Amino acid sequence: MAVLVLIEHGDGQVDELSLQALTLARKLAAGGPLVALLVGPGGREAAGQLGAHGVATAHLAEDERLAAYAPGAWATAVLDLVARLEPAAVVAAGTDRGNEVLSHVAARLDLPFAANCTQAGAGSPTPVTRVRWGGSLLEEARVHGTPALLSVAPHTVPAAATNGAGAPTIEAFAPRLSEADLLVRVAEHVSTVTAGVSLAEAKVVVSGGRGVGSADGFGMLEELASLLDAAVGCSRVVTSAGWRPHTDQVGQTGTKVSPDLYIACGISGATQHIAGCKGAKNILAINTDAEAPILANADYAVIGDLTEIVPAITAELRKARSP
Ligand SMILES: Cc1cc2nc3c(=O)[nH]c(=O)nc-3n(C[C@H](O)[C@H](O)[C@H](O)COP(=O)(O)OP(=O)(O)OC[C@H]3O[C@@H](n4cnc5c(N)ncnc54)[C@H](O)[C@@H]3O)c2cc1C
Repeated sequence: MAVLVLIEHGDGQVDELSLQALTLARKLAAGGPLVALLVGPGGREAAGQLGAHGVATAHLAEDERLAAYAPGAWATAVLDLVARLEPAAVVAAGTDRGNEVLSHVAARLDLPFAANCTQAGAGSPTPVTRVRWGGSLLEEARVHGTPALLSVAPHTVPAAATNGAGAPTIEAFAPRLSEADLLVRVAEHVSTVTAGVSLAEAKVVVSGGRGVGSADGFGMLEELASLLDAAVGCSRVVTSAGWRPHTDQVGQTGTKVSPDLYIACGISGATQHIAGCKGAKNILAINTDAEAPILANADYAVIGDLTEIVPAITAELRKARSP
């Protein structure tokens, strides 16, 4: 039986996290057909890249009302294909959208949904390993029901191409949308980009917590970030205090980041914060408290007052770069 993968895309490019989901789905299909669903404008261009990832057929859900993301409408597109193709499993990236759409699908099919899987094996019920409790434990579970509904935890499965597959067959269809499907939809996009770098994709993140002390205190973090081409992040205490917008929050209920370097300034390292930054290749903690929990996760630490240390790093960087 086929495995259906919901592919997210933008500007005609397939999202990296969807390629990761495809890699897990290909193992799950175990040689059976791998089919993709792409919703909305730009799907046709993006679909061309999927042959190299083992996709035999790419289904394009086309309707002018799909120009803006609407979870109910995307779920209807998935459900139309499920009814037609009867796949053994439906897989999505474990993104906000992937998890939201599969939640709608699960509710409408009255089936369970396993979010944030890191592995999945063939068979029914489907054996999976998945990330639970904000990343603090891995659960072995079995997903009952057909199709098995799974999302893939971001950055746990490296995206891998197959050898030499051609372009997939493209099939466009119009999902049977109702007015109810469009009640919740994106009305406006607000940029989350700081100094040209988005938090989720930044190679370096300079992040601040309660220890920064105020909204104005973030000025020195912004300055350091601009020298490092970094994005600025923060803890939930900071967004709750109104010092930074929620779009800057890193953590279980914020953005999950996976930069090469995460600089945590005045952040204690609560599990809910670590859930968002544990994907970082290196963590540098700057904290006055040598016993702060963040130190258990840090690769490097400076014990001291961030109001002295951050400007000192900035000054050294400027000095090193001056001709
Ligand atoms: C359901 C739920 C979801 C949550 N989701 C998130 C989430 O997504 N993201 C998140 O961040 N939190 C989240 N939280 C909150 C989380 O539990 C912590 O309360 C929060 O992360 C603490 O933020 P903080 O580290 O900035 O503050 P604190 O825990 O108060 O730590 C401040 C740190 O700054 C240090 N410090 C103070 N002054 C200085 C200085 N001058 N120089 C250097 N260091 C200094 C202190 O030693 C301390 O370690 C969640 C909580 C719940 C219950």
